Amino acid sequence: MRKQIAAANWKMNLTLGQAEKLLDEVLAIDWTPKAHQEVVFAVPAPYLYPALTKLRATGRTQVHISSQNAYSEKSGAYTGETSAEMLQSIGVTHVILGHSERREYFGETDHVLAKKLDIALAHGLTPIFCCGEPLTVREAGTQNAFVAKQIEHSLFHLDDAQLRKVVIAYEPIWAIGTGKTATSAQAQEMHAFLRSVLAKKYGATADHISILYGGSVKAANAAEIFACPDVDGGLVGGASLIAKEFEAIIRALK
Ligand code: PGA
Repeated sequence: MRKQIAAANWKMNLTLGQAEKLLDEVLAIDWTPKAHQEVVFAVPAPYLYPALTKLRATGRTQVHISSQNAYSEKSGAYTGETSAEMLQSIGVTHVILGHSERREYFGETDHVLAKKLDIALAHGLTPIFCCGEPLTVREAGTQNAFVAKQIEHSLFHLDDAQLRKVVIAYEPIWAIGTGKTATSAQAQEMHAFLRSVLAKKYGATADHISILYGGSVKAANAAEIFACPDVDGGLVGGASLIAKEFEAIIRALK
């Protein structure tokens, strides 16, 4: 069975005190993961180390801390940036790359993301690579071609072994933070399509790649979305900031 993942994307929210309280609450839930289940917390950069310290104290092994970004260069004069090497050195295991907010507000292109993927993989990080179409593209009915291009441009230079380390998150932009979720049928259709795009280049390896859904996932809709055969969990923004909501989302993993 492919890895099923509940990933919290806290974005730029919470003070340290609030972040610690939320993490304590979620880490304390009585949850025994199945072998193929994982939980990931993508916390703001200043909280990575405190979050890792807290997580280590619990002894949980199927819970991971993720960065929300990493830079495309190894090291050097890039004031304000965080490198994959730094993240690796403190024990971070995952990194979100290509979130639509990074693409939109920080001009991240498919080409830059391809470089970020390489450097993240070179430092042993698991990239959670985000893709997804804006509303105009969905309305024009060209979402498949749009998302396939994002995947091809940023991932297709990877070899088979590298691709196996990547997690993909399909997040239709019109569903992010809007309360408007893709229907489970829309999610399944796109996830199956993305798997077919991967299969054309990587063959059976495509069956091993976890593809998460993101966009207004919450306690009330997680089970239905996660039940889709090609949906392997979710990348969750708003609802991951509420312990009870995120607990229910974790429990909805198949
Ligand atoms: P949302 O965000 O769950 O608040 O829609 C998801 C994301 O942007 O990762």
